[in-house]
Amino acid sequence: MTESGMRIAAIRTTPLALAFKEPYHWAGRVDDGAGVVLVEVETEGGLTGVGESVAALPADGTLAAIRAVTPLFLGQPAHDIERLVTAARHLGSFNHTPWYAALTLAGVEMALWDLLGKAVGWPVHRLLGGAVRDEVDYFGFVQGDTTEELAEDARELAAAGYAVIYMKVGRGEEADVRNTAAVREAIGDRRLRLDPNCAWSVAEAIHMIGRLREFEPEWIEQPTPLESISALRQVRESVGVPIAADQAVFTPADVYDICRQRAADVIVLSPHEAGGLLAFGKAAAIVEAAGVAVCLHGQGVSGITDAAQHQLGLRTASLTDGNQIMHQLLVEDLITAPDLTPAHGKLGRWETPGLGVELDRDAVARAAELHEHWAGR
Ligand SMILES: [Mg+2]
Repeated sequence: MTESGMRIAAIRTTPLALAFKEPYHWAGRVDDGAGVVLVEVETEGGLTGVGESVAALPADGTLAAIRAVTPLFLGQPAHDIERLVTAARHLGSFNHTPWYAALTLAGVEMALWDLLGKAVGWPVHRLLGGAVRDEVDYFGFVQGDTTEELAEDARELAAAGYAVIYMKVGRGEEADVRNTAAVREAIGDRRLRLDPNCAWSVAEAIHMIGRLREFEPEWIEQPTPLESISALRQVRESVGVPIAADQAVFTPADVYDICRQRAADVIVLSPHEAGGLLAFGKAAAIVEAAGVAVCLHGQGVSGITDAAQHQLGLRTASLTDGNQIMHQLLVEDLITAPDLTPAHGKLGRWETPGLGVELDRDAVARAAELHEHWAGR
């Protein structure tokens, strides 16, 4: 590929709705699906890279935000990733919405990495410094409406070989105790993580963790509201159970603040939250320097993002096991390859260029139709 062939000719965006197989329960609400924007960046030489931005439903705001920064990318070399994304991040109103910028621009950046990998014939993990492991470990994500359904799902996940089991709490005190007891019994001595998704005040968190500790949670993820790092620290210092920061941490600057204040034992982070794959790498370096660990975070996204996160997992030294992916919760994924189904919780490494994903154009068209339907158009 010549230098001129790598200039960016177009950025195409498609708003999509991803439907969940079953109602997705978390402390905030119950979701039927999630919004994303498919980002396709095309070069003058005819190469295309694909990425995915996290969006609301409908995704109009994210579409408008990508359109606003598109002129900064057009005509520029696709391999100048740091310079282009930094320029876009500091454009106009993005200055005041760093988390929104992160969720939006990560999809464009992901497409640039896919493009660069395809141009040189290398997988993204190699472009990012090379794999430090041959496989990434993922947790079994318990789903269900009732205690019985949760316990049954947990039993199946444990039988499938997942070493780490993860479930949502924050569904009410008695329900949380009942559900956690049933899942603990179903999974035996597997490791168990509990995530109340910001549901509790400091006092409630200390009380609830006091009740749930008999079920030996490995860690409690983001017990308190996302706005306060000191709340997280107060809980961590009070309960004697490891605490993970999730919603309170997006950008590398957030990671620095949390690590400096010793507010968490683990940082749960996605490339969307960090602001891209490069930003995730910076965040992971801070985590490593602080002597804690980083855990890949799943959101309502497709296998495009999960493939990108997997590339990061392969190259990140400070990674935990029991990472999160969520494509398995979708009615259908947007890709036909690679197969992202973990075996005994583990997913290996592939050497195909870029992210290595094959888009399923029919599935993309159905997700675009569903987006318009859910948007009421
Ligand atoms: Mg979480």
